[in-house]
Amino acid sequence: MKLDSIAVLGGGPGGLYAARLLKLSHPDAVVTVYEQSTPDSTFGFGVGLASRTQHNLRQADQDSLNGIVAAAYGHEASMRVGDNEVHLSSGEVLAIGRTELLSVLQAFARGVGVNLRFSDRRAVADLDADLIVAADGISSPTRTGLTDDFDPSIAKGDGLYLWCGTDFALPRAIFVPVTTEHGTFVAHAYPYAKDRSTFLIETDEATWKRAGFDISTEETPNSHSDQVSLDYLQEAFKETLQGHPLIGNRTKWTRFRTIRCRRWHTGNVVLIGDAAHTAHYSIGSGTKLAMEDAIALDRSLLEASALDEALENYETARRPAVEHLQAIAERSMAWWDSFPERLDLPVAQLMVAYMTRAGKVSVERFVESTPDVARPGLAAYANVDALEVPSAPEVTAWVLGRPLESSGRRFTDRLAPPRLRTAADTVAVEVTVRPWSEDARKLVENLPSARAYWLTGPDDRETVYDRFDIGERIRRTTGALVVAEVPVGFEGDAAGALVSERIDLVAFYRAD
Ligand SMILES: Cc1cc2nc3c(=O)[nH]c(=O)nc-3n(C[C@H](O)[C@H](O)[C@H](O)COP(=O)(O)OP(=O)(O)OC[C@H]3O[C@@H](n4cnc5c(N)ncnc54)[C@H](O)[C@@H]3O)c2cc1C
Repeated sequence: MKLDSIAVLGGGPGGLYAARLLKLSHPDAVVTVYEQSTPDSTFGFGVGLASRTQHNLRQADQDSLNGIVAAAYGHEASMRVGDNEVHLSSGEVLAIGRTELLSVLQAFARGVGVNLRFSDRRAVADLDADLIVAADGISSPTRTGLTDDFDPSIAKGDGLYLWCGTDFALPRAIFVPVTTEHGTFVAHAYPYAKDRSTFLIETDEATWKRAGFDISTEETPNSHSDQVSLDYLQEAFKETLQGHPLIGNRTKWTRFRTIRCRRWHTGNVVLIGDAAHTAHYSIGSGTKLAMEDAIALDRSLLEASALDEALENYETARRPAVEHLQAIAERSMAWWDSFPERLDLPVAQLMVAYMTRAGKVSVERFVESTPDVARPGLAAYANVDALEVPSAPEVTAWVLGRPLESSGRRFTDRLAPPRLRTAADTVAVEVTVRPWSEDARKLVENLPSARAYWLTGPDDRETVYDRFDIGERIRRTTGALVVAEVPVGFEGDAAGALVSERIDLVAFYRAD
């Protein structure tokens, strides 16, 4: 399709990458990026790029990926609780400073003839171009201005987070909770340069208020960092920081906003990246999604004969992958929001719970890829020596076959006996609410007392995970035995839920 002029609103990763790809595909078109800030002023610290993302970027544009890799920093992951730490070999995860990423993408866009106009804030109405790509970020003025067309919804997370950094490279990525007199703070931290690490610290609302951070947040202007919180957190995480400071960059406590839009295009305007959708940072996918949107948009424009058709095809192609990741991210966000409640689990078992939290990684795959971390976690679940844990193909059956002793009851394996369902002190609960909703809170709080709760619900995978999420809340709130009914075929998912102590027993049934 022939395009003479393309205007890109926003010079973040999505906008810059889209501008380069579009200029490469339409060399005769005038492609201009309008960015309200200066080239080197940005928020945040490092961003992570997983190996799958690198693969996708390589397929789309080998040269710019080479530039990104050259400026990035590889790392492995670990989780530490108290004095116990487990390491996770995570292959080729790379992290790169947001400033470095932007300067690489600026150079590659400029290199193919894209016009970059900094300190130039524009609105759609100011632009005259065949195509307007709105890559103007999470607070997208384009999305807000055309709200009837895009029909956005915005859901705020329960927890609060702040994004800061430090001036040394941690040896590896680390998840580390610290409990102070006010409550628990969890840091997700990773190195992204030889003298820099990102620290993303989160907490729950009650802890945030007890520490007085509601006040410091209120008192911090948007152009400043919340120094009261940074000083406090620097002290709380001093062991991990090894005496280094926590550095802010317009750092303030925020609630994560998950953005969804019913439509991503209208007329000649199309949304990409955070403007169209966001996914919780704990799955590290915001930059990936923005850049992969750019790839899909470029492809659709090359393949279609008219703009309407191209934008429709772009949306149809991208929506399933984006919505899938958003569902995983939502579950991951809820898992992290409730993280302090799981600190009683041995750290190795907590690592299995972390890996299987959203259904992206199964116990089997975890054992296969990282046996030296997965095995101790499974051993802690079964209370046996790690040497007794079998390898990948047998591990699911092994998890389901472990005995359980709970409140004076003995079960020879984790398959709930049918008589338990009809026992006088078992209550059946049909789960039809989203696990982190207000309705879910009411459901858990108003349960009649029982020795066992038997959770039922629809047959699809999403709602099976809702059962596990609610199951965990019920288990922790009531201390009773929790059984989840699960369709045959979801054995691997049930194994993850059992090892993570989200449920105690599982009852398989044949779905119609
Ligand atoms: C705490 C935190 C941690 C994160 N960690 C990761 C991670 O590890 N990995 C990862 O992949 N992602 C991560 N992300 C997400 C990532 O930062 C974003 O998803 C990503 O930057 C989205 O890219 P974008 O191009 O869509 O938008 P942005 O990067 O937000 O860029 C939008 C640009 O548009 C400009 N703009 C806005 N309005 C106008 C206008 N009217 N005129 C001109 N310019 C305008 C803005 O100045 C901005 O530069 C994290 C996000 C947060 C909040």
